[in-house]
Amino acid sequence: MKILLMGTVGSGKGTQGEMLSKHLGLPLVSVGQALRDLKPGHPWYREINDALLAGHLAPQDKVAEILKETVSGPGYEKGYIMDGWGRTTEDLVFFDPTYDKVFLINIPRELSLARLSTRRTCESCGAVYNIVSKPPKVEGVCDKCGGALKQRDDDKEEAILRRLEIFKNETSVQIEKFRSDGILIEVDGSGSPEEVFEEVKKKLQE
Ligand SMILES: [Zn+2]
Repeated sequence: MKILLMGTVGSGKGTQGEMLSKHLGLPLVSVGQALRDLKPGHPWYREINDALLAGHLAPQDKVAEILKETVSGPGYEKGYIMDGWGRTTEDLVFFDPTYDKVFLINIPRELSLARLSTRRTCESCGAVYNIVSKPPKVEGVCDKCGGALKQRDDDKEEAILRRLEIFKNETSVQIEKFRSDGILIEVDGSGSPEEVFEEVKKKLQE
């Protein structure tokens, strides 16, 4: 079974992906991770790394090839859960895994703002905290390395609203396509990770 995970900003998609992966015994493929895991001997290692370091998107045709390589390797025979490929029609022109199911985790925009505006990231090690739901032991200080916790520019209100708008614009065509194919499963991501996962499991069986 091949599953695609989609979710709006702050929907907790990553957490649901990990839980679903464990539950179904299927590997989780994150596009970002697959690119970061590229070995230095790989022919595109340098090109992809340069793009990521510069904050650019990696070339889509090459990302598609890397994902194809990944999922044709051992451990992926029974399927996988994909995070980050297939939100646009263009993605699927380069590589179409022919998903069996597509989960779309929705949360209201106020909740996106609330969840992300309270997020803080360690400047030194990148650890992520939330001043409401997962605060550090000492305010403003990273538990792991003692680094300073800052709000990323990405997590400020204006940037969040922009990311929500981009998500809507980029994905609407493909979401409607998945819906008319009868494989779209919409889940309300407002609850706790456990509550949301109960709904994921229930809808998976329907
Ligand atoms: Zn840290």
